[in-house]
Amino acid sequence: MEKSEKLFQRAKAVIPGGVNSPVRAFKAVDGTPPYIAGAQGCYIYDVDGNEYVDFVCSWGPMILGHAHPQVIQAVQEATTRGTSFGANCEIEVKMAEFIVDAMPSIEKVRMVSSGTEATMSAIRLARAYTDRPKIVKFEGCYHGHADSFLSKAGSGAMTFGIPGTPGVTPATAGDTLNAQYNDLDSVEQLIEENKDQIAAIIVEPVAGNMGVVLPQENFLQGLRDITTEHGIVLIFDEVITGFRLGLGGAQQLFGVLPDLTTLGKIIGGGLPVGAFGGKKEIMDLLAPEGPVYQAGTLSGNPLALTAGYETLSILSEQGFYEKLNARAEKFFNNVEENFKEAGLACTANHIGSMACFFFTDGPVTDYHSAARSDTALFAKYFEGMLKGGIYLAPSQFEASFISAAHSQDALARTLDVHRKVLQSLK
Ligand SMILES: *Cc1c(COP(=O)(O)O)cnc(C)c1O
Repeated sequence: MEKSEKLFQRAKAVIPGGVNSPVRAFKAVDGTPPYIAGAQGCYIYDVDGNEYVDFVCSWGPMILGHAHPQVIQAVQEATTRGTSFGANCEIEVKMAEFIVDAMPSIEKVRMVSSGTEATMSAIRLARAYTDRPKIVKFEGCYHGHADSFLSKAGSGAMTFGIPGTPGVTPATAGDTLNAQYNDLDSVEQLIEENKDQIAAIIVEPVAGNMGVVLPQENFLQGLRDITTEHGIVLIFDEVITGFRLGLGGAQQLFGVLPDLTTLGKIIGGGLPVGAFGGKKEIMDLLAPEGPVYQAGTLSGNPLALTAGYETLSILSEQGFYEKLNARAEKFFNNVEENFKEAGLACTANHIGSMACFFFTDGPVTDYHSAARSDTALFAKYFEGMLKGGIYLAPSQFEASFISAAHSQDALARTLDVHRKVLQSLK
């Protein structure tokens, strides 16, 4: 790790914390982050010549694995025609049509450049539509780093124990209310206490930023019923689950339709793309059709949308998800079996090709039960896995992803290392 260490030292002098996104610093697991020289399929390679089986998959986007030939070729061809026009192009229309076609609740959609932009714009729209100021989110859910969402957030904020963030005004913080995931009573109570004040409820339909937490029976439908009753806009943040759990996302899988949906990660195929969409009636409030301003110099960027569109086209091939999910489920069950054999406490939460193995007896159903995990033991586990050539997210509270490029070989090698590391933790 000599070259990585040198790069990290140089980085720390000129980049805050040495990183452009906090969790990459490996602070929660006390190690030096490898610098990545390249990636191919399910493998990533660092500058010191180490090869890793990658279960981070760029935090979700790389569902086809790295450097998929068809995606790379499409992007290469697109670059020869220019990188940005700041004007309309055909791929924007094709992308919007694809998303509207695939996602059950989306009638109109607008493209942005990140998940954060998508969620930020969706709540602005919900506030304009309802003429109400407040939003309800769930403790441990992550919706990007816009001011409104940095209250008891998941992902890095949970990993580093940052419940609120300096720099967010008390007024903004006060407009964000936190309910408990899988607890409809906590939602009802907030609505009761804030009568006619709540514009939107935003939720990850499967939570993927406090580890993986599944919605319990009737949680999502319950949210749908409550929001309909009170005239509140229901927003599903499908930045992870969109095109991860299936072509129609979590909303199709669970059969619950939100008013607005936010997308990101997979729809960019590894380039910076986000989107938000939903009911025509709400989306048409956006400028220039309506009065709600929202814009972006690079929104609908031709290169980024080419990578995304090509990715989505491959995902829509017959049987893609069945195959991926079957392979993932078998693998996740084997991982869980390893924990049992080693006699270590573990709660395995997984759905489709995303999973989290919590170092706790569980069950893990919300922020508080997730937070009971033994993070010190996780750090040791993480270190062992990394040394064994397995690249996991450097935090207990993140999801692991399987891509279509994770071969039986790579998964078998992973299970082997995994078994040995667990034995060493006993
Ligand atoms: C990653 C993520 C975001 C933020 O997306 P960025 O592209 O990082 O801004 C928002 N919501 C969820 C559920 C996410 O997982």
